[in-house]
Amino acid sequence: MGFEDASARPDGAGAPSEVADEAGDPEVEIPVGRPPRALTLASLVAELRTVVVGSAETPSRRRAAAAELARLAAAGVPGAHPDEWWGLLPLSDDRPLIDEGEPVKVTPSSMESALRCSLRWLLERHGGAAPAGPAQGIGNLVHAAAMLAEDANADREKLVEYVAARFDSIELAAQWLAGPEHDRAQSMVDKLLRWLAVNPRRLLAIEHEFTVMLEDERNPIQLTGRVDRLEVDEDGRLVVIDLKTGKTTAVSSADVAENAQLGGYQAAIDAGAFDDYGRESGGAALVQLGPGKDAREQMQVPLTEATDPQWADSMVRRTAAAMAASTFSAVANSRCRICPVRTSCPISGKGRQVVEPTPLPDGPA
Ligand code: SF4
Repeated sequence: MGFEDASARPDGAGAPSEVADEAGDPEVEIPVGRPPRALTLASLVAELRTVVVGSAETPSRRRAAAAELARLAAAGVPGAHPDEWWGLLPLSDDRPLIDEGEPVKVTPSSMESALRCSLRWLLERHGGAAPAGPAQGIGNLVHAAAMLAEDANADREKLVEYVAARFDSIELAAQWLAGPEHDRAQSMVDKLLRWLAVNPRRLLAIEHEFTVMLEDERNPIQLTGRVDRLEVDEDGRLVVIDLKTGKTTAVSSADVAENAQLGGYQAAIDAGAFDDYGRESGGAALVQLGPGKDAREQMQVPLTEATDPQWADSMVRRTAAAMAASTFSAVANSRCRICPVRTSCPISGKGRQVVEPTPLPDGPA
């Protein structure tokens, strides 16, 4: 079928007579421009579907688009029939992500993300994560160099050479960034060495992997990960150190007390993950090597000195429950602005279901 009048065309294009009413006159300029969409069937179907659910569209345009979709659906065009609109289908599977009795794998580094917004954690975990950028490459390089620095006696020249020799493998957004970023990496190595010089604890292990099982009513929990440094304090207690190389990884003093990653490490010590070295936790610390002239150590007090010594264990269990659940909640938070999956998030204003009305220009849907 065709459209009854030009104003009802879903693509909004004017009738040919509006632009070429004097088609025979060589003086008339025919407007040249980009078509409003790709000239493909898939693009046409997408546009018709947008018009059908568009709350700002006129009833006549919506009816015209619906009629055209019906015609395309009858001809078997993919995506034209509402049976193929994912947003209208019932849930395909409402079971929990992890069946009862199956182990849930929890890493301390993923705890904060899963507890802050489980939808983001889920989507990032299953393909939605942003690709690794140069900051991550530099962080990995500094971590690798840190493996060569057991204490303040580490050979600075050797570390600097190590960083320089591998720096070119990091893909930067622009060549001119190489100098400043290389200086930044080298400065982090220097901060690490200065921090080591005043660190009162003794090193036990570097980049040490651990796995420990926690029994739980619904799913056993496999608490697993790798610590940057495992140290022992003067009282023989274990202290996990996590090196941070990002520009925005510092946490407020108030938040250190219940930092999920550090809590996860302490819970692991408590559960026997490092039994070869000991089982009493002397705390856990972030060592910030990013901004600032010197490294900044942010220490979380030992579990035994906390008001509730079980808080970290409870947090690990809450994380496991969130990761094994059947529903994942979008929870607005301070990091939504840089969330890589916000275009799939129902509360971000960008991740509507495809069958929901498009938002009006001056307000939310
Ligand atoms: S935008 Fe915010 S609420 Fe939505 S998924 Fe991302 S972090 Fe969660």
